[in-house]
Amino acid sequence: MLLRLRRDASTLAFDRVLQLASELGLVPRFLDEDRTLLQLDPASDADASRQRFADRSLFEDLEAVRAVLESADAPERSQRRADCAETTVRVGDAVFGGGRAALIAGPCSVESEQRVVEIARAVRDAGATLLRGGAFKPRTSPYSFQGLGLPGLELLAAAREATGLGIVTEVLDPRDVEPVAAVADVLQIGSRSMSNTALLIEAGRSGKPVLVKRGLAAKGRELLLAAEYVLDQGNDQVILCERGVRGFDSVTRNVLDVGAIAWLKRETHLPVIADPSHAAGSAELVPPLARAGLAAGADGLIVEVHTAPHELRSDAEQAVSPATFAEIAREAQRILAIDGRTLAQPECQRPKDNREGQRV
Ligand code: PEP
Ligand code: MN
Repeated sequence: MLLRLRRDASTLAFDRVLQLASELGLVPRFLDEDRTLLQLDPASDADASRQRFADRSLFEDLEAVRAVLESADAPERSQRRADCAETTVRVGDAVFGGGRAALIAGPCSVESEQRVVEIARAVRDAGATLLRGGAFKPRTSPYSFQGLGLPGLELLAAAREATGLGIVTEVLDPRDVEPVAAVADVLQIGSRSMSNTALLIEAGRSGKPVLVKRGLAAKGRELLLAAEYVLDQGNDQVILCERGVRGFDSVTRNVLDVGAIAWLKRETHLPVIADPSHAAGSAELVPPLARAGLAAGADGLIVEVHTAPHELRSDAEQAVSPATFAEIAREAQRILAIDGRTLAQPECQRPKDNREGQRV
């Protein structure tokens, strides 16, 4: 049940609402900063069945209550509001949102320690502030390489140790959230999992920032509602990702929906990044799509980069070289500067007088 309260209610009238809620086994939660929208949720399943019979008029008649609303009338947590700043997600040197952008780069999947450390060093030197790499891979065919699983997480931990870069890695199963969150600095929910609500809830509960990728054929609204599952766990560290949707033409692997990036930036206070790699499907189309994503308003990029793509067991065709990634990073700075935004730099690359505590 959702109550709209009177702004001018006395403390006494206000306390009466909370007291009745507690008598009915309902947990109160304010949805807005003005404390005028009060969500009442049952504390347990038993309370839930009792609440079904709770008379709305019990609340309607209280002095402090202006109206009893349907929960569906509640503003969503992802919604941008004129009086609220954009949410910024900070992970190590990376900052997404609020006029700041960051680059995530690395292999599609992690396959050996030596290779992932080599790639991590290369992308950090080129301007990435987070390392991506899948240990659990969501493959279309069950016969394709499924990732190294838990041992893959150890390789990512070694790469962080060697480079200081935070780790972005995918979790596929709610049962794996705990071990993945023990290593990951950002939990990635992949396209194929965007509508797995149990996974979104568990990822939200981990307290780690969550990167939610748009489903293969999901609407922008559906992406926002997927994020809502994470936000509803009290975790506001959510980054949205446009990675291309299925189209009728195969000139690119997916259609990078730059319109959706612009729309999302208008609708939500959450940071939005673009994944030009899974949209392009081929290395040579990654740089122009990266430019397009940032020009449409994206707060960063996630790019697949490899030093020996022929060895890759997933998405080899779309992996760009470190040199191409460095060029993408240079272009990103120029594009972001057009509307006064800045790119987060790895600490090791910032001028000495501009290090920790004085971020730009
Ligand atoms: C990936 O990031 O490697 C991946 C599988 O992406 P998506 O979920 O967008 O297909
Ligand atoms: Mn991939």
